[in-house]
Order: sequence, then structure tokens, then C-alpha cells
Amino acid sequence: MRSVYADLHVHIGRASGRPVKITASRSLTLANLLNETVLRKGLNIVGIVDAGTAPVLAELEKMVDQGQLEIHQRGGFMTAQGVMLLAGCEVETREGVHIIIYLPDLDSLHKYQKFMRSRVKNMELSTQRCKADIRELLNLSHVLGGVFCPAHAFTPHKGFYGMLASSFQSYLGRDASQIHVLELGLSADTDMADTINETRHFTFLSNSDAHSAGNVGREYNLLRLAELNFEEFRLAVYGHEGRRVLANYGMDPLMGKYHRSYCPQCDQIMQGEPPVVECPICGNDKLVMGVYDRIVQIQDHREPYHPVGRPPYRYRVPLTSMPGVGPTTYQKLIQYLGNEIEVMERASFDDIARVAGNNVAALVMQMRAGRIPITPGGGGVYGKIQVHNCNQ
Ligand SMILES: [Zn+2]
Ligand SMILES: [Zn+2]
Repeated sequence: MRSVYADLHVHIGRASGRPVKITASRSLTLANLLNETVLRKGLNIVGIVDAGTAPVLAELEKMVDQGQLEIHQRGGFMTAQGVMLLAGCEVETREGVHIIIYLPDLDSLHKYQKFMRSRVKNMELSTQRCKADIRELLNLSHVLGGVFCPAHAFTPHKGFYGMLASSFQSYLGRDASQIHVLELGLSADTDMADTINETRHFTFLSNSDAHSAGNVGREYNLLRLAELNFEEFRLAVYGHEGRRVLANYGMDPLMGKYHRSYCPQCDQIMQGEPPVVECPICGNDKLVMGVYDRIVQIQDHREPYHPVGRPPYRYRVPLTSMPGVGPTTYQKLIQYLGNEIEVMERASFDDIARVAGNNVAALVMQMRAGRIPITPGGGGVYGKIQVHNCNQ
């Protein structure tokens, strides 16, 4: 068994010479991602979520034909550097919720496309609204041998709990038992999610939802697998045969841009006792609901109640967002220590300090040990590290 780092929600900006995700960086191509970005980040598995679009699937096939990617017999695609590409498809359900279906191979991707062709307007673009509901897509995933994962489940923008229902049980009834995996999203963590009873049956994933190379790996997961392939990934997220998720790494929810409710009329992030559903200043009851406020609204108990074996959630601030890490220091860290995850998770205090100074090294150590002080975000603005309160 080995432990590997995985970020399973990355958007390709451009493929086969065409745009795939309008809001994603054009320079984030499959080739750039695999040959440069994932190596600099230190990821062993990268999941792209636009593999069901026509341009990305065409490019994927071309890379297989040209020998740049190798198909693994047990599913998944391997690069020459030993990184696994996991092919996923993010789609907006009829209800308006984002879900991801991870698929094993080209055949299942083609079948996915065939299903979608009559159900989405534009096969070129990622995360399109489709004419199929959550139940139909669960069924599709099952038939294709996929892994089904509600994406950024708590966000007010297209997250299941955030915008649709207070539980899968209440929405899907007995079919809720088909949900095994849940993506927490940038503004939620394990403690928050485990205040809801039904989540004890779900494996949590913490992924970046990156639309640019810089954001790849701002959240990631540590998985225990026998080797890199799709079947092992499935066993890990289902917690079968000793494979499992060992840890989630992500931004402190306080850093998330939808942590607290936000009043667009007053341009204010709400601070009162959650859930804040109405602005105390102007009385507006059409707030952008904060993830924290929403979770408090639908939770079953105030304190988290973790199931046995729930992996730890470790708070991370992306290296490039850390005070004291400018472009030059960043380049030096990568040059001397190899990649971002090496710096964040493994390098010694002395090695980091030698390149980036004592303050940066101390911050990394403080992060590995626990939480660093943050001023909360909301209404689309990220939270900030309180540098003056850190132990430097
Ligand atoms: Zn999404
Ligand atoms: Zn996405």
C-alpha cells in the first residue's frame, strides 16, 4: 500500500483549440496540467471534471493515440511521469445542482457523451445544465461503473445542501443510500459537515475546483491505495479492502468566499449568531446565504459527531497566498524542495527556513500543527490570514 496525494476537481480551460470552461484560464490545457502543473504541485492523481465535453475527450484520445497517456487496465490514465489522470464529468442536474461522475475509461466516457447529447444544449462546454435529475444521473453513474460525487455540496451556488434540500434522505428517500462520496467545497470542513446526521455514511473529498493553474492543489486528499488506477480510487473512496482516504487538506472554511451570509444591498458580510437569514442593517431577506449559516440552519446537532474512522481535516493556506511568499521565494522553494506539497507536508523547518526565512517556515509548522488565525470571508471575498496574530 502507498499514500498518494490527489486533487480531483480541476477545470480544463481549453482543449482541441476550443474553450471548454468560459471562466477557466485558457492556458490551463491538459498538456500543461499534466506536464507542468501537477508536478510543481506534487500531486500523484489529478481529476479533471470536463472529460465529458467533446474537445477534452477528443484531446484525451489524441494523447492516448500519441502515447502521452497510457490506459490502465483497471481504469484511469497514466502519464510517463507516473501521474494518474482521473476522468470526471461535472454537470448541472435538472434541479440546478452540480455533481461529478468519475469514469474509468474511454468507453464509459463515450457512453456518457451519448447519454448527454440529447440532454445538454452545448457538448463543447463544461458543467452545462442537463435534462436529467439527480436520480437519473446516479443511475447513469451506476450503469457506467462510475463514482458519483455531489460537488461543493454546501455552497449557495449550485451545491446540494446549499440550494436544494436539507438532506439526501428527504430528497431521494431510499436512493440516498447510493450516495457514498461528498465534496465539501472550499467553505466547509469535516467538523461542519459532521453536524448533519446523514453525512456519517459519506466519504469526504476536499478538492480545489481550480479554474487556473495557480489554484490547482489548493485543496487535496491523501489516499491509501495499492497502486494508481481507477479501481483503487473507487475502493479508497468506498473505504473497501484497506484502501481509504487518510486525510483531507483544505482551506480553513473561514477563508472561503461564502463562509458567512452576505447582504448585497449593504455590501456587508454578516457577523451575528448564525444562521443570519436577514440583514440586521437594512432588513433585506434575500441574502447570499453563507455556508456556515446554511449548515447551522440544517444541522441535526450543534457539535460535530464524527463516525468511527473519519479522517482528519487539516487546514492549509495555499503556499502562494502565504504572507512572505512572493514569486521569487516561491520559485526558490520549488527549485530547492521539489514541489508545493513537499513544502507544505514534508520539508523540515530548517530546509524551509534556509530558502524562505524563519517566518515562512514557522507558519508552515504552525499550519501542520493546527489552525492559524483567519478573518472570515463572505459574499465572494476570501478571508484573510491575521499575520499579526500568528506565532512568528
Ligand atoms: Zn461546480
Ligand atoms: Zn467545478
